[in-house]
Amino acid sequence: MSKKDFVLSVEGLTVSFDGFKAVNDLSFYVDEGEIRVIIGPNGAGKTTVLDLICGRTKATDGSIKFRDQELTRMKEHEIVHAGVGRKFQNPSIYEDLTVFENLELSYPKGHGVFGALMFKRDEAVIESVHEIADMIFLKEHLYQRADLLSHGQKQWLEIGMLLIQDPALLMLDEPVAGMSIAERKQTAELLNRITQDRSVLVIEHDMQFVEDIAHRVTVLHQGKLLSEGSLEHVKSDPKVVEVYLGH
Ligand code: ADP
Repeated sequence: MSKKDFVLSVEGLTVSFDGFKAVNDLSFYVDEGEIRVIIGPNGAGKTTVLDLICGRTKATDGSIKFRDQELTRMKEHEIVHAGVGRKFQNPSIYEDLTVFENLELSYPKGHGVFGALMFKRDEAVIESVHEIADMIFLKEHLYQRADLLSHGQKQWLEIGMLLIQDPALLMLDEPVAGMSIAERKQTAELLNRITQDRSVLVIEHDMQFVEDIAHRVTVLHQGKLLSEGSLEHVKSDPKVVEVYLGH
């Protein structure tokens, strides 16, 4: 497979905090259109890997290539602009605005903000807002204030606010934490649908959800790659069994 097939190539990635290597010589590759799930015990380095990719933390060593751009040399906002969207665990939505307004304000290039200020809404923005609202199961809630949404709906709204920016790589940190079983199923449906034209990198603990979405799984332990492959493969890898079931 040529490198062009990878949306993300992480090679030899290392970050030290006061001499402690939270991520240690890590390499992995994510295909275009792939849903990759990162699992591993607490403190394995999962969040730090996403922080490194989105430019929030600077690598001590190694390379992160997003298509043909070297992310380790770029600033956080440049990485967003290049097409990498990141959702953190706690939703950062505008609670006192409607679903429509939250999506509209997230429309790229300040377009939506300007439109709203001028009391004039661009047709393309309106069309995108409706399309995304439908995708994130909030079509019936478009004019509802965001603070009245359920926890799961707020998570979807934030995913929608990223999707409206059309990222080629979407990174999600435990997206179904606190969701009902039905909402988890819907979130899996949503992620499976959007990978027709983008890739997703997810940190997740819920193994049923991992089974529902993962094309491949990367297992981290003490900042290093422990195992990689299908969920079936990593679940039966003795190294993984030992780390999860103990000594
Ligand atoms: P995970 O997401 O797998 O639970 P993290 O990436 O949050 O793990 O953390 C990996 C390790 O790196 C932990 O031991 C954590 O305490 C340490 N760590 C993370 N960020 C920092 C930081 N900014 N300064 C010092 N240590 C950190």
